[in-house]
This record gives sequence, structure tokens and C-alpha cells, in this order.
Amino acid sequence: LERPSFRTVLRELTGLIIISHEALPDTDPSVFHKRYLKMMRHLGEGHFGKVTLYLYDPANDGTGERVAVKALKQDNSQVLEGWKKEIEILKSLYHSNIVKYKGCCTELGGQAVQLIMEYLPLGSLRDYLPKRKLGVAQCLLFAQQICQGMVYLQSKRYVHRDLAARNVLVENDSLVKIGDFGLTKHIPEGEIYYRVREDGESPVYWYAIECLKENKFSFSSDIWSFGVTLYEILTRCETRLSPPNMKEIKEEKNVMVTIDILLASGVARLFCNEFFPLNQQVGMLMEQCWAAEPAKRPSFGSLIEMFEAIRQ
Ligand code: ADP
Ligand code: MG
Repeated sequence: LERPSFRTVLRELTGLIIISHEALPDTDPSVFHKRYLKMMRHLGEGHFGKVTLYLYDPANDGTGERVAVKALKQDNSQVLEGWKKEIEILKSLYHSNIVKYKGCCTELGGQAVQLIMEYLPLGSLRDYLPKRKLGVAQCLLFAQQICQGMVYLQSKRYVHRDLAARNVLVENDSLVKIGDFGLTKHIPEGEIYYRVREDGESPVYWYAIECLKENKFSFSSDIWSFGVTLYEILTRCETRLSPPNMKEIKEEKNVMVTIDILLASGVARLFCNEFFPLNQQVGMLMEQCWAAEPAKRPSFGSLIEMFEAIRQ
């Protein structure tokens, strides 16, 4: 009798493990069943997604947990690939300043799965900030936490590409988490930027110059967007002082107008100087995030140190 090779035994064993795992689908905590999901209320929506609060209540006695469920607004095949990627990315992330993936539900209708994540009761910074009289120290703590999440994201070589107050979620008065990885892209080792070819509406007021001019997204362009996010936080997302969410950049003309504005100074920067006199240290830090040359912008790591120093 021939003795089986180590490989064969290993393959057999792996097969057994997979079979035994598949035999117990109900114990997989990342599988959410539609019949236990009770809709509570609409939480918000962005460009592609719609987020709803559900109570996941298998015991059917109201003791379940509240979860946020994100679905595509329309699941056409064009956005489906990106949606699958968004789920995969969130699933792979684990950090105290990044919203936590909980699982998926495949039964809710439509061809796309729904993403189940932890529910952050205070919504996005855009919902939260205008309603509170937040002190500068607390604003800077939020800013620092965003940087912490970003250091982690960059360690995995991801560019977020949509860092903005609307995509930062609030757990409580002293904890925020980055959400919405819908535009996130991976940058392969050895490369510096990701080049996109996307028409249509984009959050251009959060975009760095090189994003608008050459479609180049990098760790440094996330720093620029962070500068705008910091501006939003310090103006407490006051509508009057906030840039418009999206702008059509299909037309060449619009792109040029936008670039001109940004080249002149940056929209948020303009507002800062004219309507919103800043603490000098914070003002300088923002200016650095908006350096025309990407290499001159600070890193998220160095921003954390600066925030720590200012908050002392
Ligand atoms: P989109 O990709 O369409 O922009 P987002 O993931 O940014 O979708 O979610 C849209 C809005 O829904 C957010 O701005 C926020 O107000 C709300 N939201 C998203 N996720 C959560 C969550 N986990 N808990 C509470 N509110 C959330
Ligand atoms: Mg969003």
C-alpha cells in the first residue's frame, strides 16, 4: 500500500474542515437572515448607497441589537463590481476609528447583497456637529482620531478618496469612526497613486489639485481631503460655510472653473480667511494639507503628533 503524501492528507483534511463548516451555516455570525431584521428608520444616504437602521432580533422579543444596513440605491451591473469591492474592503479592516463590518444579508431582494455594519447612534459629523456646541479641543480630538484611522488604512495601502464630514460617523461625544469605503482603492506596492477614469458627479471641493487635473489619487490627496474635513469640523458643518457635496465634472468647462478656483487658493481656504478666523496653529496645519505639491503635505502620522501638541 502506497503511503499518501503529506499534501494529499492536508487536502483531505482541508476538505473536511470546509464541509463541516458549510454544514453549520446558521452559526456563522456574519450571515444575517432577512426574517429577523426589523426595519426601524432611515439613517441617511449618499451618492450610491442608502443606509437604514434595523433591529436584528432572532429571539423576536425586542432584545436584539441595532445594526446599520447599507444597500445600493440602484443595483445595476455598472456599480455592482464596486459595491462588492466596498464590502470586501470593509470586511478586511479592523480599527477603533473605522466603522465595523458585521456581515451581509443576501435575502433582502435585488441582486446585490446588503452590508451590515455596526450602528453609530449619532450619525455622521454632518448630522452631529451643527446640533452641538462643540469646543475646539473636542474638534481636534475628532480630527486626530480620523488621522489614526487613516494611518491604519494607509498601512494597508488604501486611498480613501472620499474623506469628508459626511463620511465620518459619531459613536459618542469623544469617538468618531471613518465610514463609507465606496471610492476606496488599493495602491499596489511600489506605486504612488491610483489613476481613475470616472465621469459624472464627484466631491470636487474635497479633491486635491492633482486629482482634478490628472485623476491621480494618492495618500497625499487624502491629506488634502482631510484638510477640507478639518475645515468642516471647525466650522461645525455650518451649511452657510460648507462646500457643496457634489459637482458635475462631466463638462470640460466645469472642470476648468473648479481647477481655477482651487489653484487660486482652495475653496475652504478662501472661506477660512474671510469668514472664519482660525487658531493660528490649526490654520497653518490646514495650509500644509493644501500644499500644491503633494510631497510637501504632511503625513497622517505627523498630523497626529501636531494635534497632540496643540491639544496639550
Ligand atoms: P454613500 O456611499 O451613499 O455615501 P454612506 O456609507 O456614506 O453612503 O452612508 C450615507 C449616510 O448614512 C451617512 O452620511 C450617515 O449619515 C449614515 N450612516 C452610514 N453608516 C452609518 C452607521 N453605521 N450608523 C449610523 N449612520 C450611518
Ligand atoms: Mg458617503
